[in-house]
Amino acid sequence: MSLTESQAPANPEGSSERVQPTDAELVHLIGLTSSELTTLMTERGQPAYRGKQIARWLYSKRAASPSMMTDLPASLRTDLDTWAVARTLSAIRMDAAADGAIKYALQLRDGLAIEAVYLPYQDRVSVCLSSQVGCPAGCTFCATARMGLKRQLTAGEIVEQYLWLQDAQPNRRISHAVFMGMGEPLLNVEAVIQALRVLIVEVQVSARNLTVSTVGAVPGMLRLAESGLPVNLALSLHAPNDGLRAQLVPTARAWPLLQILSAADQYRLQTGRDVTYEYVLINNVNDSEANARALTDLLDGHSGSVNLIPYNPVKGIEVYEPSTSDRIGRFRRILVAAGRTVTQRMRRGLAVSAACGQLAGADGSKTSQRHIRRSR
Ligand code: SAH
Repeated sequence: MSLTESQAPANPEGSSERVQPTDAELVHLIGLTSSELTTLMTERGQPAYRGKQIARWLYSKRAASPSMMTDLPASLRTDLDTWAVARTLSAIRMDAAADGAIKYALQLRDGLAIEAVYLPYQDRVSVCLSSQVGCPAGCTFCATARMGLKRQLTAGEIVEQYLWLQDAQPNRRISHAVFMGMGEPLLNVEAVIQALRVLIVEVQVSARNLTVSTVGAVPGMLRLAESGLPVNLALSLHAPNDGLRAQLVPTARAWPLLQILSAADQYRLQTGRDVTYEYVLINNVNDSEANARALTDLLDGHSGSVNLIPYNPVKGIEVYEPSTSDRIGRFRRILVAAGRTVTQRMRRGLAVSAACGQLAGADGSKTSQRHIRRSR
């Protein structure tokens, strides 16, 4: 990310006469790497080491605002407070499921809300992050799609979700993050790449523990490959042919399967990382034995495991139901017999609508603050 003139006010000296910057003009310090913060500081006539100092405050000491960065000169803190922000998210509500998954509804500065999910496992802790408010992809089985796209998240807002969840759950270190919350990450690819960079470089999350899930937005896939970040890619297939796929994933009309699979091959080549194929199993829609055989044929020559996801019911989408375990078993056996590695996604957070495709409920209502206090 380059720090353009419009991001950093040009006249630091005139702060007392300056009109307060609007939200859009404020620089979100979280979401910038230490070296970008260094550039920002030197551009404003500060010594270069201020960048590192600020990064430490943001990512290690978890300062909520510039005023808390007590080893900066008071004049700089006051100045920063007029044009920059650190933390911007606030909690609206949390819902904990018996299986340990906790869904947080988080409010953005402009009042819109997103959801992020904490997912503790025996051997690791993962989080599910949102990349957009709502989603433009329109998948017919997904709750988020029904919101449409409200706006893109910034890199800072994406990174903040991770920091927020870690601070809310300080007992275990979050080691993994998946971009499987609200939104299509590769239709907000520059912000997602920047967020990944900050998570890797500043928050020290291992790149191989980061997974971006996509509907198959081909230009975004190629751009992510080109970024050189060795993160995992998960590809939402959900159907073995473009006709059926278009009924479930409307972006199939823009990007046909063959084009998507060839972009996935290129991704694998360029990054050295594996691609996983996700397949939501919806009863009598895409889960027949013929579908399984067609999927086997489609993926022939393209390496990568298949992750079967039992469909999670969404209120208001009554036409779909989860495949029976019998049908899941048969589907799975056909893939395995063809030599494919198959995993099945554990259902987490179902009881609190925190499972895949169920994120949409946050309404920004302040009435549920009570709920947060009670649950903590
Ligand atoms: N836009 C990204 C991230 C979406 S969420 C993508 O499409 O990959 C992550 C996964 O959950 C996707 O594979 C998505 O298709 C799936 N999903 C969406 N709704 C679901 C539902 N109701 N039940 C199960 N999985 C669902």
